[in-house]
Amino acid sequence: MKQTINIVGGGFTGLTMGYYLAKAGWAVNIFEKDAEVGGLAGSFKVEGENLEKFYHHWFTNDLHIMDLIKELQCEDHIIIRPTRTGMYYSNNFFKLSSPLDLLKFKPLNLINRVRLGFVVLAVRTVKDWMKLESITAKDWLTKICGKQGYTVVWEPLLKGKFGRYAESVSAVWFWNKLKLRGGSRGEKGKENLAYYRGGFASLAESMMKEIHNMGGVVHVNRAVVSVTNDEIRTADGEVFKADKTVLTIPLPLISNLLKDAVDASYINQLNKIQYIGNVCLTLELKQSLSEIYWLNVNDPGFPFVGVIEHTNFESKETYKGRHIVYLSKYLPTDEALYNMSEKEFFDYAMPFIKKMFPLFTEDWVLDYHVWKEAYSQPLVTLHYSKLIPGFTTPLPNVLINTMAQIYPEDRGTNYAVREGKLMAQRLMSGEM
Ligand SMILES: Cc1cc2nc3c(=O)[nH]c(=O)nc-3n(C[C@H](O)[C@H](O)[C@H](O)COP(=O)(O)OP(=O)(O)OC[C@H]3O[C@@H](n4cnc5c(N)ncnc54)[C@H](O)[C@@H]3O)c2cc1C
Repeated sequence: MKQTINIVGGGFTGLTMGYYLAKAGWAVNIFEKDAEVGGLAGSFKVEGENLEKFYHHWFTNDLHIMDLIKELQCEDHIIIRPTRTGMYYSNNFFKLSSPLDLLKFKPLNLINRVRLGFVVLAVRTVKDWMKLESITAKDWLTKICGKQGYTVVWEPLLKGKFGRYAESVSAVWFWNKLKLRGGSRGEKGKENLAYYRGGFASLAESMMKEIHNMGGVVHVNRAVVSVTNDEIRTADGEVFKADKTVLTIPLPLISNLLKDAVDASYINQLNKIQYIGNVCLTLELKQSLSEIYWLNVNDPGFPFVGVIEHTNFESKETYKGRHIVYLSKYLPTDEALYNMSEKEFFDYAMPFIKKMFPLFTEDWVLDYHVWKEAYSQPLVTLHYSKLIPGFTTPLPNVLINTMAQIYPEDRGTNYAVREGKLMAQRLMSGEM
């Protein structure tokens, strides 16, 4: 008899798991609450083309997703290009694409510029990352770069990414980010990044088609509202029985689904991991803002962590000549900015863009969109390894496989693919 599986969530984790299980002959049902698959890497249309709601690229060392793309025979969609990275600080732009740029970085005195370079060495020499679990990123970076290096370069990035929780972030999170970025550098230290022609959503759609071709079903527009050991129920009242159910959604949403079926102590354990939200303003512009793809905003007077000009990586011709710019803000969802309307958020952002790019005028804006996600990033605090729940739950046939369990690496579609595949293998082998 065919083994049956219900997968809750049609993001990259759920789709990858579904793909490998369908390939192995399992009867697969994936449930996605939204109209489209892709989850956090999902898209909307600009001039008929997919564009990610939240900016996305890969590092060249993201091999798990590259392997999957090859398996799907879609490797001709992979685009790898060098990108320009910059930093905005004290009303000035600084190039930060290579080690030489670092040495010319005037906001730091010469000694601290050199100390900044030591971070690369410090990252490489970490043999046992578990030792970093008891140190905050702040203390670790201050020790390596000194107070000035930390305050000018790293603190704004940490605050930009984690808001008021910045000082509680573990050194493991930062170490791993720097390690990954270092691994995506080509000759002379320049950064190469990868993108998918047609957008990440078109990769998700190809996976969905393959699952359908192998007899599986991806149900879109179908939120799961309750889960028991043997079945799930969708918002439209239908019940699907299965041998196994895997939940790939954020932990607080898993808590909600399981709260009537499991002990309160398990729910408390799931709720120990906190998340931070993200608001992303996507601008479709007549003109380009700058030549930089990824601009880190280190100026404490600016509320955005980054200005990402996507069309300095993927050609503007893909979007019929429109220049695409993202402004990203991570923040707890109880803050006023998270709860602004689209128009309020746009009006809030405009003066900052004008200050940063004095030639910019509002009539460059052809269209804009504001995307929000409450569970955009788990908060990786000290001793995070002790907070992560296991894959099993008190219900023997219900498993969890979610972004917050990825560690010491951070979230990312590459790891969603790795974890989705690993879970499929565990299920096929009978280990789970
Ligand atoms: C601002 C931002 C920038 C990012 N940049 C990058 C990047 O450059 N490169 C990269 O690789 N990654 C990036 N990521 C991370 C990446 O998007 C995620 O790690 C990855 O997409 C997670 O996939 P997932 O399937 O684990 O989870 P999700 O994508 O969260 O998928 C879970 C799915 O479950 C669905 N769902 C939730 N509740 C229910 C329910 N009750 N019933 C049915 N369905 C439900 C959701 O709609 C969602 O589709 C970024 C993320 C953000 C927020």
